[in-house]
Formats: sequence, C-alpha cells, structure tokens
Amino acid sequence: MNESDAEHYAGQLKELGYVQAEDFHHADVIVVNTCCVRESAEKRIAGKIGELKAVKTANPNVIICIAGCMAQKDGERLLKKYPQIDILLGTSYVNDFKRILVEYDKTRSIYCELRTGNSMEFEGQKVRLSPFHAWIPIMYGCNNFCTYCIVPYVRGRERSRTQEQILAEIRQAVTQGYKEFTLLGQNVNSYGKDFDDKNAFAKLLRAADAIDGVERLHYMTSHPRDMNEDVILAVAEGRHISHHFHVPVQSGSTEILRRMNRGYTREKYLDLIRTIRKHVPDAVITTDIIVGFPGETEADFIDTLSLVETVGFDAAFTFIYSKRSGTPAAKMDNQVPLEVKKDRLNRLMETENKYSLQKNKMLIGKVVEVFAEGATKNKNVWSGRTRENKLVLWDVEDKVYRVGDAVQVKIDTAQTWLVKGKTVECHN
Ligand code: SF4
Repeated sequence: MNESDAEHYAGQLKELGYVQAEDFHHADVIVVNTCCVRESAEKRIAGKIGELKAVKTANPNVIICIAGCMAQKDGERLLKKYPQIDILLGTSYVNDFKRILVEYDKTRSIYCELRTGNSMEFEGQKVRLSPFHAWIPIMYGCNNFCTYCIVPYVRGRERSRTQEQILAEIRQAVTQGYKEFTLLGQNVNSYGKDFDDKNAFAKLLRAADAIDGVERLHYMTSHPRDMNEDVILAVAEGRHISHHFHVPVQSGSTEILRRMNRGYTREKYLDLIRTIRKHVPDAVITTDIIVGFPGETEADFIDTLSLVETVGFDAAFTFIYSKRSGTPAAKMDNQVPLEVKKDRLNRLMETENKYSLQKNKMLIGKVVEVFAEGATKNKNVWSGRTRENKLVLWDVEDKVYRVGDAVQVKIDTAQTWLVKGKTVECHN
C-alpha cells in the first residue's frame, strides 16, 4: 500500500512539473512516506528524518514532507523533535498532496494535515515504479482492530472504491503496457461491504480478470475470517488470477487468535485451507505468523508449529510480536520475554524452512513462465516471479532481456526462498 501511495505522490509531483532527482541531497522536495506497523520500521524512519537535518541546513529552500502512517500516529511529536519538517501529511491526504504543496510553497509556514476519514478519490496521475506490474488500490482502511495492530488507528475505517473506478484504472494501465496487476487493500475480502455487497470482491476479481490485456492478477491482503468460497471459486475459474493464496494465520492457537481478535479459530482456518485445496489443487499457500504475542504459552506455540506442519505452507513471513502503543495488546498482561520470543522465532523458521524447501523442490524439472524484473547484484543473473509469486533466478548467458519480458525457465535448483534454472525461450 505504501508503494502505491508513493506512486501517487510521484504522479502529483510530475503534474507540478517536478522530475526525479538523482538523490535526495539534490532534491527540491523530499517526501518520506512512513510506516509504523513495527518498531523496527519506525526506528529506520527516525534515522532517515534525522539525516534530513543536514540537507535542510545545506539547502534551506528544500521542502521536507513526512507522510503516511507514522506521520499520522506521531505527528505533533515529530514536529517538535525534527524542526526540519515542513509538511506533515496524514494517511487520508495522499490525494491532496499537490494542493498542499502549492499552498505551502506560497506561505512557507509549517503545514500539518492529520484529520482522518477524508474520502479519497485516487483518480489522478501516478508514476508507477514498474513498467509492467501495476498496484491498484481497491479500498483503504480497516475495520478489524486486531489487538496487536496499529493500522485501523492510522488508516481509518474501510472505504471501497467503486468497481467502475478500479476497472477504469486497470484498463488505462493496460493501454500503457501494463500486464500484471495487484489489487490492494488492508483486507481485500471486505471490499464492498461499505456498499452492502458481501460478494463484491469475487465479482471484482472476475470483472478484472475479463479485461483484455490482463495477463496476471493478484490481490493482497486476505483475511481468513472474510475469505469466502465465492472468492476461491473466482480464482479457480479465472483465466489469469494467480493461484497464490496469502492467508495470514498469525497463530495456530485458538486462544491466542481470540486474544488477537482475529475472528476465527484454528479449526476454521484449517477448514479454509481445505476449501482452497479442494477448488484449487495446485494452490501456493503462504502466511504471516507472529510469535510471542502476550500470553502465548509454550503449548500455544506448539499449536502454531503443528499448524505449520499440517498446512505445509509454501512460505511464511514470521515476526516477533512488536508492542505498538495505543493498541490493546500493548497493555495486556503476560508480555513474553524477548529471549523466549527469539527462541520461538528460530524454531518456527526452522520448521517452516523445511516445508518451503520441499515445496520449491517440487518445481525442479518443470518449466515456469517468469516476468523478468531485472538483473540481480550479479549482472549475469536475472530475477523474476512466476504467476504464483515464486522468485526465480536464471543465468542470462548471451541473451538480452528487458524488464517485463515473459521468460520460460526450466528449474534445476531449489532453495528455501527461491528457485533457479535455465531459460528455454523468451517472448518479448
Ligand atoms: S486485518 Fe490486518 S490491517 Fe486490519 S487490524 Fe487486522 S492485522 Fe491490522
């Protein structure tokens, strides 16, 4: 979502006649688009804002804008701590950036816009980061209030774009040469609930899939409680919808899921996985897991390990619970000591890595179609992703590739997070 917002800021700067600077030391406007989902992200951003002090001293005319979730959460504190900030922009004002920048330039007095709930109509120009893969926001905000999560407090309540707006954006991107699309929302399975259509997301998937020129269609992120069979059937019956299901479970313990306010049990989650596999037998299933949530006992953690073994995920993004002030979980008793969290994270990764490797080994000998993303650090090796989002590396040998090329790669090596192979042919 932040990448998509960044494309929107860049689009508005372009409309004002700005061009991209070679690096931020030479920029007239700097936008730091922030994230506060974890403490580690905030620490990195604080370091980045600190660095900008020297830039402001060297060039007092530079306009420094801090935008996004951390601006929304810590606005006043940031302004006090970092006098180099000129504009503070909350998450509801991405679309107003151009107007605010022009106003600021006239007055040169600190601008702070942090009210939430502004209805956003992201219909302006974007400067997309990829030449072939377009992020398409379908909704903003979240109503779920998982007890560990700061997102609903900083991104506000759910607001869905209309199907017409979304399809128009996809059609326009197709005319610009885009062929891969990711529909974005904090909880895409809630799409359309604000206009009383519980099946709106499945309908949207089918409609987007029917657009000529859409060669791959993804969506993120799903919520296991809201993912219904209609969505799974839309994927199963779709022409170009990825068979990758990213279904964040967060914990394998029903008691911890209750304390997280996730709205499903371990059994319900496993039912969902069975339904996915029934309709989409070749589904690639990935997840997110938090270890060390307050009150997580060793038995709860063992439930998580056993769920990982039962499902056999293709990959899992694993995190140590990070206390976010202002969320209910931050005030819960029985916070788990860091050493215990680290130990559990290691054991979880060790377990999951076995399955990730096993799943990737199943690709050995197969030919997969990859959309080329570019050279790796080693210029002789390129990387790209399959329709199911598997990362693939291949040797370029004497061939010339362009970003976005569809490349057929025969897989010969599997690792935990990626596979490698040799090209068979390439369609530009
Ligand atoms: S559904 Fe996702 S974004 Fe919403 S509160 Fe839960 S974890 Fe946060």
